[in-house]
Amino acid sequence: MSLIMDLHNHCEFSFDSSTPMEKNIEKAIELGIDYLSITDHLDLFYPHEDYRKMLDIEGYFAKYNKLQEKYSGRIKFLSGIEVGIQTTTAQVNDEIVRSFPFDFVIGSIHEINGEDLVTDFVIEKFKDIKDFYKYYYEETQKAVEESKEFDVLGHIDYMDRYIDDIKSIPDICEYKEYLIPTLKNLISRNKGIEVNTAGPRKGLPYMHPKKQVLEWYKELGGEIITIGSDAHQARDIGKGVEEAVELLKECGFTTVSVFEKRKEKKILL
Ligand SMILES: [Zn+2]
Ligand SMILES: [Zn+2]
Repeated sequence: MSLIMDLHNHCEFSFDSSTPMEKNIEKAIELGIDYLSITDHLDLFYPHEDYRKMLDIEGYFAKYNKLQEKYSGRIKFLSGIEVGIQTTTAQVNDEIVRSFPFDFVIGSIHEINGEDLVTDFVIEKFKDIKDFYKYYYEETQKAVEESKEFDVLGHIDYMDRYIDDIKSIPDICEYKEYLIPTLKNLISRNKGIEVNTAGPRKGLPYMHPKKQVLEWYKELGGEIITIGSDAHQARDIGKGVEEAVELLKECGFTTVSVFEKRKEKKILL
């Protein structure tokens, strides 16, 4: 078996994972994954903390460099980060990312206006779930427009993971007025989106983003897509990657992308 890539997963440098970095690499080698990028979390708040309290980037690179050498020839192991993008921290995020030699940067919406969407129960501040999603996609558009240093927008409909009754999730088409400009903005700046395969592991019948969003992206001319499992434990590395490839082919995509030193390279499906 061979799997094309897993460019989104977490290890011990993320606050929510305790998996040693080498475990993710060994699992990826066992699965025959060609490209692996471990993308630990940086989620700053405003007024922002010192990034070192959130993510020890120096420590990440010290270990990354050692293991990259150790496993070279067995897997293409790329350095990465998942940055929580929001308008209030866009500038400082960009400065931090520029200070380190990352291969690949995912920008994800985990916080809006200094509040963590999940742990601060932001949804409870809205009477109607539709208003919450309007806020979420409107702020996604703004965060994308104001953030410079990222390569792909992560798990676009991420909040669906945290809705107890999935039947209450509004139709994504209701938010087209925010999503289309977001996708157009990404395309115009040569940035991509990711297929994040964690959805089914979180109880959803789809991966992130839903097929409709992939179809819009394709129609608008988008052609930069990465695939990641969002594993926080080695056992989830590579999960759903084959299904993601099938989904992308169904949507008419013929390539996926990897990033090395922030430069995009396409790989035929
Ligand atoms: Zn994320
Ligand atoms: Zn993640």
